[in-house]
Formats: sequence, structure tokens, C-alpha cells
Amino acid sequence: MTGRLAPSMTADTQFFWDGVREHRLLIQRCDGCGTLRHPPRPMCPACRSLEWDTIEASGRGTVFSFVIPHHPQLPWFPEPYVVALVDLAEGTRLVTNIVGVAPQAVSIGMAVAVRFEEFDDGVVLPLFAPVGADA
Ligand SMILES: [Zn+2]
Repeated sequence: MTGRLAPSMTADTQFFWDGVREHRLLIQRCDGCGTLRHPPRPMCPACRSLEWDTIEASGRGTVFSFVIPHHPQLPWFPEPYVVALVDLAEGTRLVTNIVGVAPQAVSIGMAVAVRFEEFDDGVVLPLFAPVGADA
């Protein structure tokens, strides 16, 4: 696949992108109370613990909401494309693209599964496709 901008990484998000490179979708879990959180951040919003580990997500989820952007045109995205909020089965929500389906066919509540897409320059991104869609 052609290029995509590499995600910006910080000390807080490094584990997430390391996992994605290994085709694992990781979710941060509070060591104090077990609450899952995403996007990654240093402190638990529920109990303020700074201790955490991770669990591996199943990769299954549903489309919570989505848009089909038209402007501005970006060189990394062939039009049309879908930017979506996906609710993972584990309860956290992430921003991603829906692939493997015509954008007009995407719907709220659609069951989707993660698909790790490898782009030029070693960029790997966790995108989602409808359950059962061809690779
Ligand atoms: Zn906590």
C-alpha cells in the first residue's frame, strides 16, 4: 500500500504502537481498579492510579459514528474514505478508518474487526473492516 503519515508517538502511546507493529491491539488497564482506558494516558480517570498494564483486545467492535471527509483532499487518502469511531467489544473507543467496504455501505452499529494494514515506510495502522469482508 502507498504511504501514510506515521502516527505521532509519545512515552504514553509507545506501547500501543509497538503492539500494532506486532499486529496486536492493546488497551491500557489500570493496575489499581482495572478500568480500561483509551487513548493512553498516564493517570487513571477513575482512581488516579499511575500504575497500569495492558490487555490484548479481541479486535471486534461496532461502528459508533463515522464521517466521509471530502475537503481538504489529502495525498494519503484515496477518496472517498471513512473516518470512524469504533467501540471495541472491551468497551473502549478509538478513531480509525473503515476499509473493505464501499463508504456508502458503512452504517452505525455495523460489526467490524481489526485489520492491520502495512504501508510504505514501515507504518502499520489498525484499521477496521466489516466482519466477514475479504482482505
Ligand atoms: Zn483506576
